[in-house]
Amino acid sequence: MTVWFWLPVVIAISLLLNGLRLRGRLRRLDTLPASGRPVDPDHLFICAEGVQLTDAARRAASYHASRERLDVLDLVPADLTIERALDVARMVDTRTYRNDRMAAGRGAFQALLVRAEVARRAGVEIRDDYTAVELVEVTERLKRYAPGSTDLAVLPGLRAARDDAASRARVQKRAWEETRPLRLVLPTLRDLAIGLSFHENRPWGFAAMALFWCQPFFVCLGRVPVAPRDLIRAPIVRLLSGPLFALDAVRTWRRETKAAAAAKAAGRAPDPVKERKKAEAAQRRDRYQHEFAAGPERYLQPPRPDCPWCGSYDLAIRLITKDLEQRKPGRFQLDECQECGHIFQNPRLSLTGTAIYERDRRDGINAEQYEAAQANNAALLRARAEIVRPFVLPRTWLDVGTGLGHFCNAARSVWPRTVFDGVGPDRTISEAERRGWVDTAYRGRFTDHAARVAGLYDVISMFNYLERSRDPSAELDGVAKALGPGGFLVAELPNPHGLGARWLGRLWRGWAVPAAKQLIPVDNLVAALEDRGLRTVLVQIGPAHQPGDLLSAVGMAIQAIAPSPTQPWSEERAVAVRWLWRALVLLAAIGPAILAGIVGAVAAGFMRTDSRSNTYRIVARKEG
Ligand SMILES: [Zn+2]
Repeated sequence: MTVWFWLPVVIAISLLLNGLRLRGRLRRLDTLPASGRPVDPDHLFICAEGVQLTDAARRAASYHASRERLDVLDLVPADLTIERALDVARMVDTRTYRNDRMAAGRGAFQALLVRAEVARRAGVEIRDDYTAVELVEVTERLKRYAPGSTDLAVLPGLRAARDDAASRARVQKRAWEETRPLRLVLPTLRDLAIGLSFHENRPWGFAAMALFWCQPFFVCLGRVPVAPRDLIRAPIVRLLSGPLFALDAVRTWRRETKAAAAAKAAGRAPDPVKERKKAEAAQRRDRYQHEFAAGPERYLQPPRPDCPWCGSYDLAIRLITKDLEQRKPGRFQLDECQECGHIFQNPRLSLTGTAIYERDRRDGINAEQYEAAQANNAALLRARAEIVRPFVLPRTWLDVGTGLGHFCNAARSVWPRTVFDGVGPDRTISEAERRGWVDTAYRGRFTDHAARVAGLYDVISMFNYLERSRDPSAELDGVAKALGPGGFLVAELPNPHGLGARWLGRLWRGWAVPAAKQLIPVDNLVAALEDRGLRTVLVQIGPAHQPGDLLSAVGMAIQAIAPSPTQPWSEERAVAVRWLWRALVLLAAIGPAILAGIVGAVAAGFMRTDSRSNTYRIVARKEG
């Protein structure tokens, strides 16, 4: 009895269970009835090229959207190919999609109804010649601007665009590469495993193969018309999707190279979109090269001899490290006060320096990655909102350092009647406002608004904010000023006394070098709040733990050994040998990464006891 014997058994059972799950998802989709009412003039339609949307179909969609108060409706053609229908079931949990404000926008990527106001806010063009891949982008975008009023439904009479296996693979890649990269390779690994284990366990191998063959029919039957030729075509398309995608990528590349060469020879301008991207990348690179040309030291302020928290001169070096996450140039030192345990960046980054090191971390070239990480964090964001439940029913909530407002968006599903406002830099808070994730946006620093908002809020929250602030004492003064008697502060900070900080050394992500300016031990924070008339009512250390330290340590090690060759701040140019080295290191890291993920998940229970966790949360009440 070997692994190869059991593998087909496991695969067969999981194919069956997954089939049941996916079938349930497709069955829950509404089918739109015909409607005689005219199309609401506020309802606009976006289509992929080749999709035929009749007037009758528009009327049916518009009527449904009005009745269900939907701003965005993904229209699923009833004649979708069964592989595409299978993909809709894999991508969308139809049970929770409409109410899950954090779910990524997904659908059939054929046609969408959108309310004019939402399209305008989202900056989405109304066209009927999108490619399916572009529609993935459009759907994701629209869902962000209508997080609680987006849904999908089957529309009879809507004719899907012609489909091929390569375009299906491209859509999958675009939809999953940031959020669920594993899903791109799992089907191929499964097919390989069935093939390889066949001689060890023939009966179950046949069963797994038969289930693989039947799954789309079983999932789609009664929902999507199934033609007899699909019995042959669908499994072949699914088996070949990986190789066909690779083939298609090579063909596209060759076609584009030829076209570019021809354009050059004829003296015509090459592809404008590509040229613009190239120019942007070059500009970004020049800017960083220029900024770091005189050495990164110029962005550090003079070191201070004393502890900024208690004034003691008894300091010791806690850590010296580079920027391990992004590998921007420079070395940073964290000092620890021997008197009070306060840990702080010394010398500290200047304001200009902070702006340079923060750029392209959550925005710019890493914007999509950041959005995906936040979407995967939905449960954590909701847990943060839940923490005040024993103490207060919040009517008004101010989130300080809210970024794009992901917390406020997620928290609305926990507290649907609460007003959520945010404070942050103009650029991000304006976007949060456009998305409708914050009700009122305060631009700039919290300390500048504290007096103005005095007494307005039941709860003020600071998640991963105080450690990044340049003056945490002033921020706490601001909180004391802004909260009325009986108001609550909720804060979440990294725990410098946890196991991660001790065991993982420089590779602990909680150090957040160089973004974190200080790490405040929990006792210090409690005392500082007490001084300002805020009584701590809850300290949550264990349960606040966030698994993932080990995995991100592996990530930082990869970045250290083989940084991404396209980083615009790197002095070296992206050459083939550096790509090859990066690919080899990534390949070698698959094993350690899987192990780190498993160990992290298994050890989460252990980390959640005592004060081992990597994070702590605190709830304090303003007395009065
Ligand atoms: Zn101190």
